Amino acid sequence: MDTALVDTHEHLLRESTRHRGPGAHDLLPCDDAALLLHHYGQDDLAVCGMPALARGLLFDPEPAPDVKWRVLQPYWDRCRNTGYMRAVRHTVETLFDEPDLDLPAFVRISERMRDPGYTGTGLYGRLLDAAGVESCQVHSLETLLCLTGGEDGGRILPDLAVGALTVSIDLDQLERETGGRPASLGEMEALVDGCFAGYARHAVAVKSLAGYERRLDFDAADPAAAARAFTALAAGAAGEADRHLLGNHLMRHCLARAAEHGLPVKLHCGLLAGHAHMSLERLRSNAADLCPTLVDFPETTFVLMHMGWPYQDEYIALAKHFPNVYVDLCWAWIVNPAAAVRFTREFLSAVPASKLLGFGGDYSTAECITGHAHIARRGIAQALFELVEGGWTPLDDALTIIGMVMGGNARRIFRLADRERDQGGAAELG
Ligand SMILES: [Zn+2]
Repeated sequence: MDTALVDTHEHLLRESTRHRGPGAHDLLPCDDAALLLHHYGQDDLAVCGMPALARGLLFDPEPAPDVKWRVLQPYWDRCRNTGYMRAVRHTVETLFDEPDLDLPAFVRISERMRDPGYTGTGLYGRLLDAAGVESCQVHSLETLLCLTGGEDGGRILPDLAVGALTVSIDLDQLERETGGRPASLGEMEALVDGCFAGYARHAVAVKSLAGYERRLDFDAADPAAAARAFTALAAGAAGEADRHLLGNHLMRHCLARAAEHGLPVKLHCGLLAGHAHMSLERLRSNAADLCPTLVDFPETTFVLMHMGWPYQDEYIALAKHFPNVYVDLCWAWIVNPAAAVRFTREFLSAVPASKLLGFGGDYSTAECITGHAHIARRGIAQALFELVEGGWTPLDDALTIIGMVMGGNARRIFRLADRERDQGGAAELG
């Protein structure tokens, strides 16, 4: 725990939303120990057979914790081995001094989490301290433009999420949140430019979840065709081809703006969160689909997330070949801890160590960052130990690399020192 982690990816609700309690957001259904399983534990529970009705009860705010445990326990026993659940187990051990989950522990943790002294102001700061995290980059799912900055003394740093500006345009939401309702492609581009002008100095990065919606082949689009596609969208008549074309055009617009404003672009790659809806065929193409875009935007910094699992070898190739590509291990340590260790070892024997970002919890529930950080620390240490033991990396080099992967690379790539200096000033980030 001596080396601080820079956390490059979370989905934390605003702390003020958390304080409003269950129901304040879909990601905050309850306030007892079940909340620790909501994001992502519930997916392992579902795939090991826990019925939707039982999961509904688990995350309902009303039932008593002992009732919930009796519903959960048979399924917990089935899936407690996974990375998602190991993170929960490390979390309860670190934060609540419980060696594991069982009936008494589940009840005690629930009582603690509902204690006003626990949830009081400063909760996130205390939890980040417990995780050994110095700062935390948040792609908020509360608002389209995702500004949560300023909470906890500047330790929570917002991403500028561009989904609503590119591949998932919702004109009603844009109007609600920006005051503008573009009627043409030109007006839409102006709205995007306005968002960058207004938000870039607050943001640490641009974030896109396009991988959930479509392939990552952002080919250049004919502007006239894109304009027609926007007209169709505004009329509520856009088909899939229109949306794809428009997404290409506006994503490329955002990639250019991101470079101008000095914001790295984080792209979701690989596995989709949730369960029972994924097209693996599409995800398999993520790395290859991106190549033309990486060539077309050499001034844009791309951060490819989650090591693209389960196709991680291809991301080693991209980071090795393209100067503008970095790989982020966010989420990966709990998706498949063993694969993340193997990936880290292979990456660090092939790619400059400056190109690997070591940690992001990817949670909406701040408590679980603690458990995930524990797994990441262990995994990074194991990967480096194996490189040293195998004679591939001298010990002194390994110690330097650990500092780079855990925080140094993130501080440099996201210009965190510049950001601290600029806070409160007029200078734009980048
Ligand atoms: Zn995420």
